[in-house]
Amino acid sequence: MPDFTPFRTDTDTAGPTVTASATAVLSPAAPAAVTPEDGARSPVFAYLPKPTMIDFEGHLSFLVFLSGCNFRCGFCHNAALMAERQAGLSWKRVRDACAHLRQTAWITGVVISGGEPTLHAELPELIRFFKSQGLAVKLDSNGSQPEILEQLLPEVDAVAMDIKCRPDRYPDFVGWARPDAIRQSVQLLLRQNRVQVEFRTTVLPEIHTPEEMRAIGTLLAGARNYTLQPFHPRHDLPDPALRTRERTPKGLLLTLAEQLKREFALPVQVRG
Ligand code: SF4
Repeated sequence: MPDFTPFRTDTDTAGPTVTASATAVLSPAAPAAVTPEDGARSPVFAYLPKPTMIDFEGHLSFLVFLSGCNFRCGFCHNAALMAERQAGLSWKRVRDACAHLRQTAWITGVVISGGEPTLHAELPELIRFFKSQGLAVKLDSNGSQPEILEQLLPEVDAVAMDIKCRPDRYPDFVGWARPDAIRQSVQLLLRQNRVQVEFRTTVLPEIHTPEEMRAIGTLLAGARNYTLQPFHPRHDLPDPALRTRERTPKGLLLTLAEQLKREFALPVQVRG
């Protein structure tokens, strides 16, 4: 998930904190015109006030964050604010921010990130709202809910799925007990070709050994876009042991990328 820089005002910070549900229920199909009431709470917890150029290939984009996540990654940069679901901004704030960027920065896309957006029952409505604004929609997901991802695929233009480690390590590494759900999401994304798909991994040297990457390469065989990105230490990481670790060396990322290209013919790019 992209780094989180909250943009909220006092008028929007009020509201109860609620715990993210493990499984969201999708609402039924809505009419094409999406006009949520201005004062109602949207699922958007925060957004970047400037457009992003790097998160959605081919698009200058509005980047919004939905709070609440069902993983517990020790290296999460957003955990302090994003682990539990928080009250969202008003629809007016979201609509105004979107309109401002459309008029001043000519955005053509939106990236819906988190947290884990698929935990929100209101996600389909949010997607349809952005579509009604003429924006291409990219969804960031940890892949934990393949059933919901499958329902959303016809609605979006791009998906980025994090691959944290090999599936059987998920319970220990990120606290997610359904490795099969990760495999299902990967297969789902590998099977379809309408949506632009990116898989990506944040590389920690002690976890992402050549053997680990071999298991991930097997999982992703046939993928058209895989990105390796470095781990960045920060003082507020959930895992105290990681706070003082070094940033992942670029040389290691390049070495692992070469391995994956050689052994699995994966088109791997290194970012950061
Ligand atoms: S999947 Fe992990 S890194 Fe992403 S928001 Fe959840 S806890 Fe943070």
